[in-house]
Amino acid sequence: MTDLPIKRTTSLSGASCANHPVAPAVEICTRCGTFLCGDCVEYFREETPACVNCMPHLMGTPASMRARFSPILSTIGLAGLLAGFVVKGRAGLVVWVAGFLIGFAGLAFGVQELRLIRAGQAGTRGRRWAQIGLGVGALFALGFGLLLVSFGVFLYRTYGRVP
Ligand SMILES: [Zn+2]
Ligand SMILES: [Zn+2]
Repeated sequence: MTDLPIKRTTSLSGASCANHPVAPAVEICTRCGTFLCGDCVEYFREETPACVNCMPHLMGTPASMRARFSPILSTIGLAGLLAGFVVKGRAGLVVWVAGFLIGFAGLAFGVQELRLIRAGQAGTRGRRWAQIGLGVGALFALGFGLLLVSFGVFLYRTYGRVP
C-alpha cells in the first residue's frame, strides 16, 4: 500500500477497512490513502471519498470575521467615494473622509487576511472574501487617488486665484 492518493479505479479486492478489519474496503481516502468501508467513508462534495480525519482538511477552515468584513468595508468605502460627489458642502467632505477610512480598512483587511491564509494562520475559506475585498479595495484606492489629485489641482487653482 502506498501513501499517495489512489484513484477509485484501483482494485480494492481483498482490502479491508482500516478501522474494521472484517469489513471489506469500498473506497480509499483521497487525501491519506486509508482503506475505508461503507460505514467509514464520507464524501466531499458528494464525489470525493475521504476519511473522517481528512474531511475537515478538504472542506477548509472557516473564514474569519476580518475576511468577511474586507469586501463589506471596501464596498462602503467605494460607495462613500461616489456619495461624496452627491452630498453638497462640508457634509460631502465628511462622507469622503469617512469613506476613505472605512475603504482603506477594507483594503488593509484583505491584504492582511490573504497573508495570514498563506501563512496558515487564517481560515482558507476566507480567501475568496479577502480577494473580493482586495479587488473592490483596489478600485476604491484608484478612485480616491484620482479624487485627491483633482482635489489638489482644485486647491492649487483656488489658491492661485485668491489674492
Ligand atoms: Zn484520510
Ligand atoms: Zn470501517
